[in-house]
Amino acid sequence: MSSTVSSERETILQTLRDFCEAEIRPHVLEWDEAQQFPREAFRKLGELGFLGTIFPEEYGGAGLSIRDYAAIVEEVARVDGSVALALAAHTSLGSNHIYQFGNEAQRRRYMPKLTSGEWLAAWGLTEAEAGSDSGGTRTTAVKDGDSWVLNGSKNFITNASVGSVAVLMAVTDRTARRHGISSFIVELDNPGIRVGKKENKLGMRASDTCTLVMEDCRIPSGNLLGREGDGFINSMKILDGGRIGIASLAVGIARGAFEAALKYSQERRQFGKRICDFEGIQFYLAEMATQIDAARLLTERAASAKDSGQRVTRLSAMAKLFASEVAVQICDRAVQIHGGYGFIKDFPVEKFYRDVKLCTIGEGTSEIQKLVIAKDLLEEV
Ligand SMILES: Cc1cc2nc3c(=O)[nH]c(=O)nc-3n(C[C@H](O)[C@H](O)[C@H](O)COP(=O)(O)OP(=O)(O)OC[C@H]3O[C@@H](n4cnc5c(N)ncnc54)[C@H](O)[C@@H]3O)c2cc1C
Repeated sequence: MSSTVSSERETILQTLRDFCEAEIRPHVLEWDEAQQFPREAFRKLGELGFLGTIFPEEYGGAGLSIRDYAAIVEEVARVDGSVALALAAHTSLGSNHIYQFGNEAQRRRYMPKLTSGEWLAAWGLTEAEAGSDSGGTRTTAVKDGDSWVLNGSKNFITNASVGSVAVLMAVTDRTARRHGISSFIVELDNPGIRVGKKENKLGMRASDTCTLVMEDCRIPSGNLLGREGDGFINSMKILDGGRIGIASLAVGIARGAFEAALKYSQERRQFGKRICDFEGIQFYLAEMATQIDAARLLTERAASAKDSGQRVTRLSAMAKLFASEVAVQICDRAVQIHGGYGFIKDFPVEKFYRDVKLCTIGEGTSEIQKLVIAKDLLEEV
């Protein structure tokens, strides 16, 4: 796994497709109902090299491009959004923050464990009082000799109870506001940090979403990630890349739902015809296919720009906004095409419909994406 030419990408994707069909698809509903994180599937994804795709080989990664990564997230999401969400949070949030802003000692300590999948990473910005307004972080980190002492809690953290390490944002200088937030690497077996409430969710139920609570959590001073005061700015840069992952997640879920609806429309007969022979259903199918291609093109544009080193704030927000909003519509149409059967758990569109909503919320809601895009447009004027 080291090249990005399209034939090699196709080989990588075929390996992943085969894995998803054999190891994930048969268990999707069972994991969803039990809200069970699929540890064994993640161990195998790690063995196959899919948990460190975008990191250099010297850290155990596969050295693939962001475009490759986007295609990988899409492929997994086409089968199970929960697995794709956990993979994306591990790769483009937790691991990437350590890789992008970690010093050499931090990279050497954490990246090989993360790229192999021996450890999963979480990433915590959101708090009860600081959601869209993440600059309103209340968790504090106070320097005490050779340690930092963290107090506070982080909400809705993906991989919180199944991960081994988290990157957490905390206030180190209240007077400096956003420039007074720093990021820290916290190992999750460290005394003083514990997993709190496990969320009982509408969708993405096999992904792990919990609160992390810090009570006098003392970590070594060397676990400051990047420069003191740069944590908020750096997390916004991490989200620029992360949003490409969420756009891909949306495209993948939409594709899974569309493929199921296309197949069903060719099998289901009413009024003596296949329902795909009705023009009303054909219009749905045509619109869904067009929306998926448009969403993927925007996502690929953002990914390619990131691969060429460009700033992608606007492009990734546009991709995430468009892909997630159309994916919600596509899953709605997919259920509609199934009629009553779309409402029943025996058919996969029921779960796609529940999972997809997260895409318009996680890593910044659609409203926040619009604010990001508008700010970028106005700064250009
Ligand atoms: C399953 C799941 C997994 C998650 N994983 C993680 C994770 O791993 N790490 C992490 O840090 N966070 C994670 N999150 C948190 C997620 O990023 C936040 O839920 C999201 O950013 C929104 O914050 P909020 O829920 O507090 O909503 P709020 O900020 O309270 O928003 C409520 C509503 O108000 C709107 N709104 C807010 N401000 C404005 C404004 N200025 N203009 C217009 N509208 C506005 C919002 O768009 C939304 O519609 C996860 C969430 C979920 C549900």
